[in-house]
Amino acid sequence: MQPSIIGLDADDTLWHNETVFRFTHDRFNELLSDFADPATLDAELAACEKRNLDTYGYGAKGFTLSMLETALNVSKRKIPAETLNEILMAGREMMRHPVDPLPGVEDALETLAGRGRLVLVTKGDLFHQESKLAASGLGSFFSGVEIVSEKNVETYQRVFARYGTSPDAAIMAGNSVRSDVLPVLEAGGFAALVPYPLVWEHEAADAPENHPRFRELSCLGDLPGWLDELRPH
Ligand SMILES: [Mg+2]
Repeated sequence: MQPSIIGLDADDTLWHNETVFRFTHDRFNELLSDFADPATLDAELAACEKRNLDTYGYGAKGFTLSMLETALNVSKRKIPAETLNEILMAGREMMRHPVDPLPGVEDALETLAGRGRLVLVTKGDLFHQESKLAASGLGSFFSGVEIVSEKNVETYQRVFARYGTSPDAAIMAGNSVRSDVLPVLEAGGFAALVPYPLVWEHEAADAPENHPRFRELSCLGDLPGWLDELRPH
């Protein structure tokens, strides 16, 4: 069956995200350089983010709170208020960072919109994700937007059911094996991995090998071609 529901991830699939996080993380390391070396800061911040995921969820706001918490911890509460302010401002800049679609994305979405209903499926903060979609100018391609707290098998089953589709008539494309590929395959859908040069440690996972409903693509523009291959002859 050729998929009629085309799910698309947002961050690092439609626009840059991890690059903005890394840039902010580098700024954080600079601001804290009097208290710890970059390797320690990387490890402390990653552990703090992971601890806080259940409380803050995914996104820039939770990341900012984790930066502040890490700064307080590594400085043993000695961090100057001025530096805390700089960290807060760095987090704020992330929220207001311009959102430019990745090269070729707009053309790919235009083609894909002619093949099925496009649904944006993204984790993170509702307000920020909606703002980014609006700023990207890509909103009109989508029939639906699903901002979810976690991308697991149940999430995809629920999303496919909401659009009146059985999993074998749904495909998801995104940059994360852990979030955009494995749970979709487990739910019975098709999944395309469109790698982004940087992968957040938390999202790292091995791609499936020789799975009949999985394909790794070099860019989103290759997705219509795979859909054509899936069309019954
Ligand atoms: Mg992503």
